Amino acid sequence: MPHALSSRALEMAQSLVRMNTVSANSNLELIEFARDHLRSLGVRSRLTWNADKTKANLFATLGEHKPAGVILSGHTDTVPWDNQDWSVDPLSGSVQDWPSGSDDGIGPRLYGRGSADMKAFIAIALANAQHFLDSESPFAVHLALSFDEETGCIGVRELIADMKDAGITPMACIIGEPTNMVPAIAHKGVYRWRCCVRGKEAHSSLTPQSVNAIEMAARLVGKVRDMAEDFEAKEKRFDGFDVPFSTASVGQFHGGIADNVVPRDAEFRYEFRNLPTADAMAMQDEVIAYARKLETGMQKVAPDTGVSFETICEVPSFLGSERDPVTRLAQRLAGHSETTLVAFGTEAGLFKNAGIPTVVCGPGSITQAHQPDEYVTLDQLARCELFMRGLALARTVG
Ligand SMILES: [Zn+2]
Repeated sequence: MPHALSSRALEMAQSLVRMNTVSANSNLELIEFARDHLRSLGVRSRLTWNADKTKANLFATLGEHKPAGVILSGHTDTVPWDNQDWSVDPLSGSVQDWPSGSDDGIGPRLYGRGSADMKAFIAIALANAQHFLDSESPFAVHLALSFDEETGCIGVRELIADMKDAGITPMACIIGEPTNMVPAIAHKGVYRWRCCVRGKEAHSSLTPQSVNAIEMAARLVGKVRDMAEDFEAKEKRFDGFDVPFSTASVGQFHGGIADNVVPRDAEFRYEFRNLPTADAMAMQDEVIAYARKLETGMQKVAPDTGVSFETICEVPSFLGSERDPVTRLAQRLAGHSETTLVAFGTEAGLFKNAGIPTVVCGPGSITQAHQPDEYVTLDQLARCELFMRGLALARTVG
């Protein structure tokens, strides 16, 4: 191991894992813990809230006298664990080898929901706050902790808007999602919609006087499927992704009340996962255009029929660069000369779209995230802490 994990960082990570911050719950226990810790070091936090003030983002600057800074960004929420088969308590934050007594060479791990995704990263940043404050490096370190990332990168939008309002212009951003500490420079976008089709009900013996909502919805589902096949057949490949083209998929379909009733209502939910080089909104426009054509026929039968769309989530794709100084900084601090692409969405596209060069680099593996018995190895945590100690000493970004 290149560096032993400090007991302070490990204890902090255990404390954060023991807080239940499933996205459906408040995250204030964690935010207040972080705020109080920073306050004890003389650091002020900026909080931004959700509408009913049950959740908050935290933004803090370590080194306020310095002209610009590097953001360390993490989300505070986790996915739930209902119906998952865990052999440890998801809130235990226990450290052990597993299965007990086995030696698989991986070494001890921190177990619990959010251990890899991504409380350990936040904890190590907090535990090393004094190092950032003492640092003689010419740039500050900002901590950005967000709510509701897992439900569509909701909270961080407020944080970024507040940062802009306050005139804070960070020079770079490092997102600590689990990449095994290999800097990641791209991911796809995730855009999800709900489509509701309103038809006209009738006895099923009188179909010409009706508009069958399921059948119209099925045509739209077919359109989404056709687009998916088009992406696969025609889209320019983006090497490095497991699936090197954009994908489309329908995840849910509901409709109908009885066999002998032409259904009035149907709805389905679908998503696009667009390459960073493809435009998800143009994809959605194509679905809408198809829906408008269908509507023309539907409304000839019954004028108040139609198709409506509702956005469920919009997580923009992310495309950084190997040439970005922040990528080179992350490579240097992590001791990895390579970069990688990741298959999951993060807040990186939102920071990048705000004009901040961004890289994704954090401890643990995405294969453990969202899974039963989620864990992160202490070796990964030690590497992450070494990364942060290096950041505190860095003279330049790049
Ligand atoms: Zn995450």
